[in-house]
Amino acid sequence: MQLDDLFQREIKTGYKNSVVFGGFADYLANLAEKQGMDELHDLALCYAVASIAERKKLLPLLQQKSDSLISKEPQTESKPAAKPDSDYRSNLATPIQYMKSIGPKRAALLKKLGISTIEDLLFYFPRYFRDRSELSSISSLPIGDTVNIRGHIVRCEKLRPKANMLILRAWVSDGSGIVPCIWYNQKFLESELYQGREIFVSGKTEYKFNKFQLNVSEYEFLASADAELRGMQPVYALTEGLSQKVLRSIIIDALDKYAGFIEENLPSQLIEKMQFQSRAEAVRKMHLPEYKDEYDAAHRRFAYEELLVLQLAINLSAQATVQEGRSHKLTDDILPDFCKVLPYELTGAQKRVINEIYADMASENAMSRLCCGDVGSGKTVVAAAAIYLACRNGHQAALMAPTEILATQHYQSLQPLLQKLGITCCLITGSVNGKAYESLIEALASGEMMVAIGTQALIQDNVIFKDLSLAIADEQHRFGVRQRTALMQKGKNADLLVMTATPIPRSLALAFYSDLKLSVIDELPPGRREIKTYAVSYDYEQRIWAFMEKEIAKGRQCFVVCPLVEESEKLDLQSATALYEDLEKNVFAHRRVGLLHGKQKPAEKDALMQAFA
Ligand code: ADP
Ligand code: MG
Repeated sequence: MQLDDLFQREIKTGYKNSVVFGGFADYLANLAEKQGMDELHDLALCYAVASIAERKKLLPLLQQKSDSLISKEPQTESKPAAKPDSDYRSNLATPIQYMKSIGPKRAALLKKLGISTIEDLLFYFPRYFRDRSELSSISSLPIGDTVNIRGHIVRCEKLRPKANMLILRAWVSDGSGIVPCIWYNQKFLESELYQGREIFVSGKTEYKFNKFQLNVSEYEFLASADAELRGMQPVYALTEGLSQKVLRSIIIDALDKYAGFIEENLPSQLIEKMQFQSRAEAVRKMHLPEYKDEYDAAHRRFAYEELLVLQLAINLSAQATVQEGRSHKLTDDILPDFCKVLPYELTGAQKRVINEIYADMASENAMSRLCCGDVGSGKTVVAAAAIYLACRNGHQAALMAPTEILATQHYQSLQPLLQKLGITCCLITGSVNGKAYESLIEALASGEMMVAIGTQALIQDNVIFKDLSLAIADEQHRFGVRQRTALMQKGKNADLLVMTATPIPRSLALAFYSDLKLSVIDELPPGRREIKTYAVSYDYEQRIWAFMEKEIAKGRQCFVVCPLVEESEKLDLQSATALYEDLEKNVFAHRRVGLLHGKQKPAEKDALMQAFA
């Protein structure tokens, strides 16, 4: 195996830097270093961190520069650790197009699901299983139960009770009896349902309008080829244009040909102790278990594997040493002075957490603390207390929130409080600009402005603090480590406080944020009703709208929050806008419904928030 070969493989496998264990680029960099070829060494390191597109450009350069490397390398020397493993790597890293059943069109569809190599395909686990071993006989279907049936379509019918409603009805017979199966508003199915076609249907039986029928939730057309129905049928997440059946057969094919190349990654003592299946076997059972417990065992293995890797990584990063921080001078009058300006008494939990924070801030080590507390537990005032200590020491503080709306809210509640304490405070977001922005920037740099509250606009290069000693990040899960670090680095050895309302169990918090110490505000301000949190499925939608209607009728108000997912604000916007339109036109047509999101103009947002308040 010579370098030339490695380059060829690297190209073939899509510039993944994976043809050598530990990384192709690292291997090359190592060789280069040993032979004193600094330029090549550096180039190889660049390659390791480059994007695929950049790698394509870098590779020829690397190849050219390593020409002399080859001639220097003794032909016989080949270190085992650096030897490319042709079996494992090259087989599983094979792009899926190399499979017979996959042409360019299917490859493009699979790509949408994040599958581009055989390995991706093997590890594309089903979302759930349909237990088809329990087929009901049509002659003895119960009412109001979810059942599976299998039979032939004997008659089809199309109904249009309303202009925007389409009902497809197919009578299915299994020899014992006939039942009408109903699909609502599935126009594309019209041509698929025809007499004589064999079908598997799962759904709820109901007795409606004097008729017995089956309301279909899942179905699958059966070809005579798979007359042998498996009991546990894997159901994969799909994309338009790719059917369950096709994906299933592709995965089965991949399992047959490639599962054998999956390497074990857990030590054998551990496998023995935990009684795990081999990794290859477990992958097979994740897709095609005969029984549920086989699947459960495989699933347990992968869950274990995932947590083990996570834990190992965390342990590595937790070895980070304690860093030097700012030692804030803490005198006995500070907390009482702060409390004087509050219109209420701090709760016991708030006092405890503030004292934990104060102790950290007073110490010489850098503070890294996570403050967890349910919505309404009063985190803002805790942040204010921390800010106060920083400012009393003559330093500055910054508070960063994930959205402009949240930053503005913080500003509105903190500004009056801080003003009473003689602390100047400003709001910096993407929509503050021009002269106003310039003067704020100047005031922060001169130290005249003591506190900045804002969005990620705070971590832009031109925001400079004279002497920032405390960085606070609110709703931490929206920020990456990099952003909170960037905020901290606006100061010298600044202390860090992270705040979140995510109810994360203590043990998990310690595992995931092992670089942070934990404070929990586990008490609500007096008179506050406990917040009840429920997770329900979409089946509950109607009940929730009905509940909201009841509350609104009492003169109350409701929020509906749509998912905010980092990096995909566009999608969130769509989901919020779509739901808004539905609620406003249909569900709550007789009520006033507003829409608020980050892409609106400040004036629009203000107007809406005012109206709601
Ligand atoms: P969150 O933890 O969700 O950020 P906030 O800090 O916004 O909660 O506080 C929620 C509300 O409770 C605010 O109106 C705040 O003024 C009020 N509040 C906070 N602490 C107390 C307290 N100790 N007693 C009474 N009201 C309080
Ligand atoms: Mg808050």
